[in-house]
Amino acid sequence: MASNKTLLMLPGDGIGPEICGEVHKVIDWMDKRRAVSFDLKHGLVGGAAYDAHGEAISDADMQAAMDADAVVFGAVGGPQYDNLAWEHRPEAGLLRLRKEMDLFANLRPAVAFDALLDASTLKPDVLQGLDIMIVRELTAGVYFGEPRGMQTLEDGTERCIDTQSYTKAEIERVAEAAFDLARKRNGKVHSVEKANVMKTGIFWRQTVTELHGSGLYDDIELQHMLADNCAMQLVRNPKQFDVIVTDNLFGDMLSDVAAMLTGSLGMLPSASLGAVDEMGRRKALYEPVHGSAPDIAGQGMANPLAMLLSFAMTLRYSFDLQEDADLIEDAAQAVLARGIRTGDIMTDGAERVSTAQMGDAVLEELDKRAA
Ligand code: NAD
Repeated sequence: MASNKTLLMLPGDGIGPEICGEVHKVIDWMDKRRAVSFDLKHGLVGGAAYDAHGEAISDADMQAAMDADAVVFGAVGGPQYDNLAWEHRPEAGLLRLRKEMDLFANLRPAVAFDALLDASTLKPDVLQGLDIMIVRELTAGVYFGEPRGMQTLEDGTERCIDTQSYTKAEIERVAEAAFDLARKRNGKVHSVEKANVMKTGIFWRQTVTELHGSGLYDDIELQHMLADNCAMQLVRNPKQFDVIVTDNLFGDMLSDVAAMLTGSLGMLPSASLGAVDEMGRRKALYEPVHGSAPDIAGQGMANPLAMLLSFAMTLRYSFDLQEDADLIEDAAQAVLARGIRTGDIMTDGAERVSTAQMGDAVLEELDKRAA
């Protein structure tokens, strides 16, 4: 039967195709065991697209991304592309996707897996049960604000400028996304800025407060926190947070802090969401936080769990398939609890497996749960 769920797979470079291969296995499993099917499309991005078309993503694949209900993205980059002109570099493909799909809300969950608690530098009791979501504004702020660049002053002195800039609408839409997420979680949002020293911080705080007071979010508890304190609190007592919403720059840093609470790069999923259109559809791209890992590419060593957990987010946020998303997340927890590990999360006494074996172990756990 034809599916009305369009999914574009963009595996990219390095370990991207290997970890996306494990997603394909889960998609086949869902088709057979859960009667959930997708209209699956495939495209090229990054170095793979450059090799085929001379650009980091072709117009046709860009259009396919715009038309899809969700894009599942592996990773891009590799040393062979490092000396290309900027517009041809693999990252240009990802940036074009983010820009043209207007993916303004970047969601990075930090979830502590019981079996990996010892892999963190923090004490297990600080982390046990941790489940927080950082929502980072992704398309505005100091990474995009104008003016930017070098200037020569009248006295010949050189200076360089970046500009932090936010419109009210840019703050409102990411705050709305955070409130909506909190409603499906534990109902708590921390809005994070530097209102003590930055005008945009004051504006951010006012705008989020007004939105919260609009009557639409009375069920959500809102707290404001300064970004430096938030960095400290994330390390001191991360379980006080549910959803954190913040700007592009602070989000970049705080999400890395939160990510490392939970151990390896190979375990971290992410989602980037756009606005809801008139059809009620939200453009979205799901990708692991890690890169293309050229040092281990093609050797069957990559941990596919970040990719599989990104696919679980796809099911949860683009297709409202909460139960199926839960199944994948539970299966990943169970595999780790069985002591099955790829090299990046290897511990004493655990069983070291390949990318494909890790994917198979997840399928076994899925089978048990669906039985
Ligand atoms: P990386 O995340 O690719 O790798 C960092 C280290 O972590 C490497 O030792 C790698 O082997 C390991 N690692 C990463 N993912 C892993 C996984 N799933 N399983 C096991 N080990 C894993 O970062 P890097 O080395 O700084 O960058 C490599 C390339 O990736 C560069 O070309 C960079 O530009 C690109 N990159 C792409 C993205 C993206 O596509 N979103 C993000 C970051 C970096």
